[in-house]
Amino acid sequence: MKQFQFNYEGEEKFISMIKRIRQWCNASVVSNVVFQIYTENLNKSRITSICGMIEKEMPKALYMGCSTNGNIVMGDKSSSPISIICTVYEYPSTRVDVLQYTLTEEKAKYVADSLTEYVTRHPWVKSIMTFTTMRGMSMTDYCNYLCELPKEIVFCGGGAFSEDINDSDAFVFSNVGQISDHAAVFLVTGGEDYYVEARHVTGWKPLGRNLRVTKAEGPVLYELDGKPAYETYYKYLNINKDDNFFSNTLEFPFLYELNGLDILRAPIGCNQDGSLVMTADIAENVNARIAYGDPWTILDSVFDVATSFQDFIPETFTVFSCAGRRTFWGDDEISKETKPFQSLATTSGFYTSGEFLRNGDYVNQHNVTLVIEAQREGSVEDKIVPQVEMDRSEFSGKVSMINRLATFIQAATEELEEANKQLQLSSITDGMTKLLNRREIQRRISLKAREFENFSVNGMAKAGATLIMMDIDNFKSVNDNYGHKEGDRVLIGLADMLKKTVAELAPDASVGRWGGEEFMVLCPSLDEAGATALADTFRKRFSEIRFDNCGNRTMSLGVTELIAGENSDICCVRVDDALYEAKKTGKNKVVVAQ
Ligand code: GH3
Ligand code: MG
Ligand code: MG
Repeated sequence: MKQFQFNYEGEEKFISMIKRIRQWCNASVVSNVVFQIYTENLNKSRITSICGMIEKEMPKALYMGCSTNGNIVMGDKSSSPISIICTVYEYPSTRVDVLQYTLTEEKAKYVADSLTEYVTRHPWVKSIMTFTTMRGMSMTDYCNYLCELPKEIVFCGGGAFSEDINDSDAFVFSNVGQISDHAAVFLVTGGEDYYVEARHVTGWKPLGRNLRVTKAEGPVLYELDGKPAYETYYKYLNINKDDNFFSNTLEFPFLYELNGLDILRAPIGCNQDGSLVMTADIAENVNARIAYGDPWTILDSVFDVATSFQDFIPETFTVFSCAGRRTFWGDDEISKETKPFQSLATTSGFYTSGEFLRNGDYVNQHNVTLVIEAQREGSVEDKIVPQVEMDRSEFSGKVSMINRLATFIQAATEELEEANKQLQLSSITDGMTKLLNRREIQRRISLKAREFENFSVNGMAKAGATLIMMDIDNFKSVNDNYGHKEGDRVLIGLADMLKKTVAELAPDASVGRWGGEEFMVLCPSLDEAGATALADTFRKRFSEIRFDNCGNRTMSLGVTELIAGENSDICCVRVDDALYEAKKTGKNKVVVAQ
């Protein structure tokens, strides 16, 4: 496989370039020639003329192309608006084909079915690479239809775009179809000596707290946590609903998990009602977080993914990188994330409006993501494994500033998260015994009672969940005779025994401190008999503990089963009555509520 990558610099130079390629082909064994044409510029007549020249000079060559938000040539952002990549396949067994279909939401199923039918008829297909128009169209159904393609076939690609990210015009074209602003073109490649792999990189990190997507439809995100979605952007990022909305939000997409993968979605516009129009469909009822690009995290991810391709020994890489990444890095630094691939194999591609990749069972549409396809002809035997090289020099300008802020945010967020965890824990635990506090055990009891609220049938129906309440016998005398400290030791000893016993015998039970020397256990899956046995184990084990000063102590316990439909206060009173009965009738015993 050989690749020629160059920028378009006028007809004359282009024709002489094609002639050179033709000469090279005449002197070599060549099975197929494919041109990929990327144009930042939406000038259709220029493209028509370029296509005409290819057809005239190399009539057997295939070509496909699209409008872009910038082109990548030799691992670098090209400074030229039109770039051309010519791939020459050398193995006679390698087969390629270009397909083009009109693509609209209505035609999505037809396109996917046609592709599936194509690959069934052509079992040599190993890779499908697509350039597609997509702005203003929901791609969710299309992606779902594409899941029907055989899993072994690598599927990846990018959405056509234009120089101006606020412009929704874009087109694709090929040797089998016209220039179209509603179409998808596909390069299918395969054959026994052809090898292909594709992966993706994000590197964006979540920022701030989880926001629930409470209302979304297609690409419109209406509400986060029940409030107009725009408010989030205003509140956290101070981004106004003006003409620059998209360029300002693009670097702060939402991050959520779908089909086990991190998906990023950026808002492209804001409606009057405060809803946001996203770069692609966003799922409802997921937890989303605002994400930001952290330069080193991105480069580390790029390095890891590039390294994972080393053993494959690629001959070429095609990258589909989101236009948002270009905005994020700026043109001075953007090549930092494509250069590591170039250090392994010649790398080309373009800045997209969306990136496509099959991962396992799903074909996903990504945003703010880098999708990379590697290809090779022939086996890797005897080839030297190349090493990834990465520029680890300090960032300059804006990216350097972002890097410092990102480091600060990371450190501050970790501290906050840890503090929050501690706070949450301490808000539900009792300081001395480390059991649940009264409020928390009470909350759990009433939650449990509410679960049974609706299955109250014909009066009394036992619910299969129980309460055990206990109180230390003659505890006052411990304090009076041995001091308050010894009293505390008894309370802690009892609490530790309860924790251990529950972990061993009823791991789903909750143990709480109800008051001074009173404790409550909620057993969500024990009936009256089960809880009575457990209560008696508590009683026995407590009586066996020998405290340093006050020796062995006893306690009394009450047990009751929750009744469907009753208020949680009622069962708490009932178990308290049972405990009182135990006290009244001699202590150191378990009484079941009547
Ligand atoms: P009975 O067998 O009837 O339960 O008798 P009792 O002495 O245990 O009952 P009472 O309710 O009169 O006494 C409870 C005592 O528990 C009173 C209070 O000083 C003590 N107490 C409550 N909280 C704590 C605590 O955190 N530490 C210590 N050391 N004592 C506590
Ligand atoms: Mg008491
Ligand atoms: Mg007591």
